[in-house]
Amino acid sequence: MFRETPLALPPLISKEMMKSTRYFLFAVALLGTLLSFTFNYVAITGIGDPLNNESDTLAIEIIEEIDPMLYDTSCVFERNWYNDRTFAYMGDKEVTFTDSTIIPICNVFHDACYPVKNKINSPFGHRGSRFHKGLDIALKRGDTVLAAFDGKVRYAKFNNGGFGNLVIIRHNNGLETYYAHLNKLKVKPNDTVTAGQLIGLGGNTGASSGAHLHFEVRIEDKPIDPAVIFDTETFTLKADHLELADVIFAPSRRSHKKVAYDKNATIYKVRSGDCLSTIAKRHGISVNNLYRLNGLSTRSVLQIGQKVRVR
Ligand SMILES: [Zn+2]
Repeated sequence: MFRETPLALPPLISKEMMKSTRYFLFAVALLGTLLSFTFNYVAITGIGDPLNNESDTLAIEIIEEIDPMLYDTSCVFERNWYNDRTFAYMGDKEVTFTDSTIIPICNVFHDACYPVKNKINSPFGHRGSRFHKGLDIALKRGDTVLAAFDGKVRYAKFNNGGFGNLVIIRHNNGLETYYAHLNKLKVKPNDTVTAGQLIGLGGNTGASSGAHLHFEVRIEDKPIDPAVIFDTETFTLKADHLELADVIFAPSRRSHKKVAYDKNATIYKVRSGDCLSTIAKRHGISVNNLYRLNGLSTRSVLQIGQKVRVR
């Protein structure tokens, strides 16, 4: 049996207080359970809390998956966005890609479409004394011309430089496609378009002798052979990504300067699949010597048929 301690202190908590304390504790417990459910829900769904661990982990995983050689498209529709310039990057001294840059062409979210499923009248490349910077695709006046990839119309109007009615679309991957000599424009500047969407009707406007589509693909104004992306006979994609090392660019005035060879020089003609390091190895010369002999730099992109001095 317990005896009440003689030194019992006056109770700090009265019976009434105990009663209300019990209610208070019950309320706290209930609130705690509710809060815990809410936090778990937020943690699972990632709603409302930008710093919750679940989405943090996801973000880190995605960043790790991005290839550092991928073309930077973080501001693709803001950087050099001009509705009235044929060439949007002309003011830039440097390009932001190298010959190892990779450009994704299509994936499960973004489709691709050959603009006019018809034969080629004139390919990309040297045409007489000039360089033809696109493909001429046969069509009849009024035939539909379709957007090659998803993107946003940067330019859609008559062009005085010879393109005639011209549509330029900038794509999510940074490429731009040009559709020239159109009879009618079916899009406006800043329209969002999807691959395969009607953008204009074929025609013969501008410097053109007969209806056709002049189709160009450019990266920061530099023309790329569209035939490295599309098979021009089956009208299908050749690959889901483009490595700029494998790409044929039109020669720019600067990189096209003539190299004077002395009579002891050995000249090699660049073939498909060549790169500076394999050419150097095959001819027992260092890559640096190749640069020096040919006035090339690390930014130089070799073209098939280009003559390179190897000795
Ligand atoms: Zn053309």
